[in-house]
Amino acid sequence: MALELRPNCEYCDKDLAPDAADARICSFECTFCADCVDRVLFNVCPNCGGGFVPRPIRPVTEWRPGLSLAKRPASAKRVHLSYDREEVARFAKVVRDIPPESR
Ligand SMILES: [Zn+2]
Ligand SMILES: [Zn+2]
Repeated sequence: MALELRPNCEYCDKDLAPDAADARICSFECTFCADCVDRVLFNVCPNCGGGFVPRPIRPVTEWRPGLSLAKRPASAKRVHLSYDREEVARFAKVVRDIPPESR
């Protein structure tokens, strides 16, 4: 299995290209932009309650056979949150002060 490299922020719908330095993912690969993670989500994934890390960038060079962005392309399927903004804010408020390793 490989990361899907989803194409957008689930919250604000910003495009997140495979080489975006501001893409963040949770352990389930819920994907958001750094601005939303910092300013809106407060490092709380609205889908699972986990924290985020920067999404790794898949190499464009095929250093090893079959393992490059061209051979294993990013997903084109945009994903959108199923929670409204009020619920996202409520949930973040409940969870944000608990460190991710204790959630
Ligand atoms: Zn965003
Ligand atoms: Zn998540």
